Amino acid sequence: MKISGSTKILGIFGDPIAHSLSPVMQNAALQQAGIPAVYIPFHVLPAQLPAAVESLRALQIWGVNVTIPHKEAVAGMLDELDPDARLIGAVNTIVNRDGKLVGYNTDAPGFLRSACEDLPIDPQGKRVLVLGAGGAARAALVALGRAGAQWLGLANRTRSRAQALVDEFSGILLGTSFASFGFDAESLSVAATDVDLVVNTTSIGLKGEVFDDFPWGSLSPDVAIYDMVYAPGGTPLMRKARERGHRAADGLGMLAAQGEEGFFLWTGQRPPSGVMKNRLLTELAAARNT
Ligand code: NAP
Repeated sequence: MKISGSTKILGIFGDPIAHSLSPVMQNAALQQAGIPAVYIPFHVLPAQLPAAVESLRALQIWGVNVTIPHKEAVAGMLDELDPDARLIGAVNTIVNRDGKLVGYNTDAPGFLRSACEDLPIDPQGKRVLVLGAGGAARAALVALGRAGAQWLGLANRTRSRAQALVDEFSGILLGTSFASFGFDAESLSVAATDVDLVVNTTSIGLKGEVFDDFPWGSLSPDVAIYDMVYAPGGTPLMRKARERGHRAADGLGMLAAQGEEGFFLWTGQRPPSGVMKNRLLTELAAARNT
């Protein structure tokens, strides 16, 4: 890649950041599209987030992604928020429009696109069980509600957090009905009855953990399973789901799709098809072999 005086700068803010796969996938797409820009990881500590955000203006950085633990905090530091980012309460993409910093959440459309393409499933009119009640669950709720899901069940270890999401979103996503559940085996088995799709937004599986109380007994083989976690060779949940005959996907497609949405917001161009996902698959295969 040739860096010149007119090369634009993109990047990602996070803490930690060294593990992030976004630089390899974004740089691969920028290079293939012939866009004169580089994408750089920035290790930003929480106390330095306001200064890092301000530097986007000072250094005329084109835009950045924002990852753990800054997605919620950064939303209050920008000039404007896209309506869905405001609803989700988290920003993972910032666009610098001539000094005006605009925040977006591309996790929601990224998840939806990946679920529609990789499972595949159309959430319109469907009953969906969402496991977890953190930021990723909020993105899933907004995406599924906007896409016309008929019923959304929320099950979380801390049940009060699931109920708080039900209270908040039932007044906003009016075409969808909501219910909250606990996370013990019995509650999960009731919650999973008659659903069309189960979405894991908890971090179970991130370190290879097996989902002990997953309600397999309540699920007929035509129920699709989406695991937002991703891992080299696929997550234990995705692998087990496929063994049992379910359509299943892990979060690799979502990671690529949210990146593609960000690329489009910054550059105004769709990235070359499949480049980001293929690059991620290569990186994860290499990680598996080391
Ligand atoms: P978060 O806000 O910290 O929420 C974590 C959720 O997981 C909470 O609901 C928490 O329950 C639950 N949880 C954690 N450990 C658990 C356990 N041992 N048993 C049961 N529940 C447990 O995190 P987040 O931002 O929502 O992210 C969640 C996951 O989604 C992460 O693994 C992240 O990698 C993944 N993600 C993937 C993508 C992608 O592009 N593929 C994008 C965003 C996020 P409590 O409320 O009880 O603590």
